[in-house]
Amino acid sequence: MKLPIDIETIKGFLDPVEGQALFDRCTEASTLGPCLEIGSYCGKSTLYMGTACKQLGRTLFALDHHRGSEEHQQGEEYHDPDLFDSRSGLMDSFFAFRSAMQKAELEDFVVPLVASSITAARDWQTPLGMVFIDGGHSLEAAMTDYECWSKHVIKGGILAIHDIFKHPDEGGQAPHIIWKKAIDSGLFDDLGVVRTLGVLRRNDN
Ligand code: MG
Repeated sequence: MKLPIDIETIKGFLDPVEGQALFDRCTEASTLGPCLEIGSYCGKSTLYMGTACKQLGRTLFALDHHRGSEEHQQGEEYHDPDLFDSRSGLMDSFFAFRSAMQKAELEDFVVPLVASSITAARDWQTPLGMVFIDGGHSLEAAMTDYECWSKHVIKGGILAIHDIFKHPDEGGQAPHIIWKKAIDSGLFDDLGVVRTLGVLRRNDN
């Protein structure tokens, strides 16, 4: 895998081993249809998935309201003052995201959806080769992402979920709960967990 820019220049919380797994799965899944990620933030995972999609001339939809998740807000653990927009008094990661896509020459293949998950999903009808869930980590946010988007994964396509921690003392449990829910649905086969990246494949059921 050769990325168009240095991954370390993009802020974010994705291990390079997980990034490689995302790239590999997206390369495979984008043969089936366009791909979508939820929670683009500054574009780290987008760089891996967008580069994979570009190889095949596919579209990656990059969904994020760019106002930050709960943990990114002022006073919270992962707040980054660089991403605070003093004009609106809100978090805004879209400028950083856009700059990264421009530098990586991915703008012809990555379509940003600057909206909440529910809003973007309301009239969504396009089947997807891969869905990557890395949005808000509250149970409500994770459940909404799962309910809104997992149903659009094409048979044989990939559902990936970030930040799977098996034990509560390692991290929040919402991603693990939706990962488990996907497996329990009988609609997805478990392809394993790479670090904290859960990978599932939509089966023929
Ligand atoms: Mg994450």
